[in-house]
Amino acid sequence: MPDLELRPVLHLLLHVLVPLAVARIVWPEYWRRAAIWMLAGWLIDIDHLLADPVYAPGRCSIGFHPLHTWPAVGVYAALMVPRRTRWFGTGLVIHIVLDAIDCVLM
Ligand SMILES: [Zn+2]
Repeated sequence: MPDLELRPVLHLLLHVLVPLAVARIVWPEYWRRAAIWMLAGWLIDIDHLLADPVYAPGRCSIGFHPLHTWPAVGVYAALMVPRRTRWFGTGLVIHIVLDAIDCVLM
């Protein structure tokens, strides 16, 4: 087996499992739709394409990539308020929290 590091793998797993768990617990009746919207929170990682290299295991994405800066996080938190964008906003905030945990663990 190549030297596959545990932290990045765990990070990717959490990016799938946490939104699914939150969807099931908070919105049990609509958890599938809620989960799809929250998984869409992963879209903000497209900002990694602006960076070189696109992925660096030791780099903290918070504050580095444009969609992972604090003004952007404020927008994500605001998206949690209106009902129409709540699932997407929650997914984005979960994404940022998971990325932040990853930075702490580095
Ligand atoms: Zn990210």
